[in-house]
Amino acid sequence: MKPAPFRYHAPKTVEEAVATLAQVAPEDGRVLAGGQSLVPIMAFRLARPAHLVDINNIEALTRLAVEGGKLSIGACVRHAAFHRPVIEGPLGNLLSAVVRHIAHYPIRTRGTFCGSVAHADPASEWCLVVATLDGEMVARSARGTRVIAAKDFFQGIMTTALSEDELLTEVRLPFLPADARFGFYEFNRRAGDFAIAMALVAFRVQNGMIAEPRVGVGGAEPRPRRLVEAEAALAGRAPTSEAFGAAAEAAAAAIDPMEDATTSAEYRRDLVRTVTRRALERA
Ligand SMILES: Cc1cc2nc3c(=O)[nH]c(=O)nc-3n(C[C@H](O)[C@H](O)[C@H](O)COP(=O)(O)OP(=O)(O)OC[C@H]3O[C@@H](n4cnc5c(N)ncnc54)[C@H](O)[C@@H]3O)c2cc1C
Repeated sequence: MKPAPFRYHAPKTVEEAVATLAQVAPEDGRVLAGGQSLVPIMAFRLARPAHLVDINNIEALTRLAVEGGKLSIGACVRHAAFHRPVIEGPLGNLLSAVVRHIAHYPIRTRGTFCGSVAHADPASEWCLVVATLDGEMVARSARGTRVIAAKDFFQGIMTTALSEDELLTEVRLPFLPADARFGFYEFNRRAGDFAIAMALVAFRVQNGMIAEPRVGVGGAEPRPRRLVEAEAALAGRAPTSEAFGAAAEAAAAAIDPMEDATTSAEYRRDLVRTVTRRALERA
């Protein structure tokens, strides 16, 4: 099938883009970034936007920079930018470890980091990264700019705090301390598929004990989130298999798993236990 008719806009600046969005958003005007989620759903006519605002000609949005202890990722930075570490240290390594689980190579050369975050698929790897590391989203509209914390941004399946006239101009990720360890583990049935469950963890080891633990789970609930119950099971304990097992149990107990035609809630809960433990072992 072919998409329903739409009007195409190609702004050259962020100001022009938000001015266009202010006009067309009420008529289901949408931002077009990498098109790797939007174009397929338009082809199936699951979405019929009357206007597309293509941001790919906006040079300022290709920015990938370090600013005030944070990595700032502009709206046109593609997944493929992270195939190699973009910065030295654990954060750069974490992003390049995670990126290869996103779809397939051609999709990673077009799809954008911010597009994934704006799309907010529960099984998006970047959404899990943002939630686990407490990233910030910078939203711009003709009304001004606001910064939204991850815990307030993800609201449910493909639902975020962004208003229809807001452009996500960048995502900011805080650096991890130089001695931070991280681990990521994803389960899906075929390589390149969306995760059925995945976990991202990070912690430091100080005087032989786990400090500053972060445990995030994605794919299992309508939105990715940090699980404080699992983090509490790790903090101040030695990084042993007993501690990892206790955190994995706490994660499995804390979630309220989604169910679908092929995956029961019970199975997803079991997977959460496994992916959390394996992510901790990798760290
Ligand atoms: C076969 C296949 C497999 C895939 N597997 C995975 C996977 O395993 N993991 C995964 O995470 N993704 C996967 N994807 C999705 C892919 O990562 C997309 O690139 C991503 O979800 C969306 O990014 P995009 O830049 O292509 O956004 P688009 O498709 O252009 O847009 C998606 C949505 O976000 C909105 N949007 C985009 N950018 C902005 C912005 N800056 N501000 C406001 N709104 C915006 C659009 O209006 C639209 O509603 C897969 C896609 C395909 C086709």
